[in-house]
Amino acid sequence: MKALVYTGERTMRYRDEPDAEAAAGEALLRVDAAGICGSDMHAYHGHDPRRVPPLILGHELVGTIVDGADAGRRVTANPLITCGRCDYCVQGRQNLCSNRTMIGMSRPGAFAERISIPRSSLIDIPQDMDSRAAALTEPAATALHALDLSTRALRRPLPEARVRVIGAGAVGLLCALLARSHGCLELSIAETNPLRRDAAQRAGLRAVDPRQDDEDEHAREAFELVIDAVGSSHTRNAALRGLRPGGVFMHVGLQDWASEIDMRKLTLAEITLLGTYTYTTADLRATVRALHAGVYGDLGWVEERSLADGAAAFADLDHGRSAAAKILLRP
Ligand SMILES: [Zn+2]
Ligand SMILES: [Zn+2]
Repeated sequence: MKALVYTGERTMRYRDEPDAEAAAGEALLRVDAAGICGSDMHAYHGHDPRRVPPLILGHELVGTIVDGADAGRRVTANPLITCGRCDYCVQGRQNLCSNRTMIGMSRPGAFAERISIPRSSLIDIPQDMDSRAAALTEPAATALHALDLSTRALRRPLPEARVRVIGAGAVGLLCALLARSHGCLELSIAETNPLRRDAAQRAGLRAVDPRQDDEDEHAREAFELVIDAVGSSHTRNAALRGLRPGGVFMHVGLQDWASEIDMRKLTLAEITLLGTYTYTTADLRATVRALHAGVYGDLGWVEERSLADGAAAFADLDHGRSAAAKILLRP
């Protein structure tokens, strides 16, 4: 089968690979589309020690089962493969499973014509669901999980919160679009790339350039909730400056792993700092329903390309040449 293989730092090769074969308890899927995630870009830059080349990346997929009694059924999947038995799994917190592995990381991913995946990881979709929407299930579930945790930490209902999202990549956009659908009245998204700012505006969001943002806007503590979908030293500090006392700081992106933040402000202003990681099975199922219902709008910011041109897509994302917050690759 053809696959796009990460072979080394900043190198993706479209080449022949051994056909995927279904192990016991697994289903073989024909991949219809698979999205490029920020974490795939992180691996591409050689910054993810868990993703060791040569490796087929990709974990955001929609596909069609090709074997067994349900051949022909369209599905998406939970790329986190969890044990179902540990304390976290039995609590429904599969994202924290003590024994989890992940497709496109510890086993071959979805940038291929076919993939084998445990049947327990398959997520049903309406059979008429647009494959572009279905392929967004994984990042949209990440946004839903983050917004759900944020909402629980806020003292007042989410629609009353002044919300700032940092970063108009897919997860940032999806967080903002979901917050809008929940009725947030004062909502903005900060993005330095002008192409992505335009895309966010076209999606109906108020996009601001944080560098031209009135410097005092952050200083004057404007938001009850800041969602950092970038996660750099710089954005963490901007997020904390922007929060009002009692506010919630949701940390979603993970560009840099460590930095100093203002612990004095965090402490004296009673800021709630939250981490979030992926999604539960329930989040994925709820997200399929939301995407199918059109909660996220027309998804005009999603671009589709051929898997054979995948290497160029990675390079374009690397150089900030693409306005698309999400590129889907179709085998
Ligand atoms: Zn992802
Ligand atoms: Zn588990």
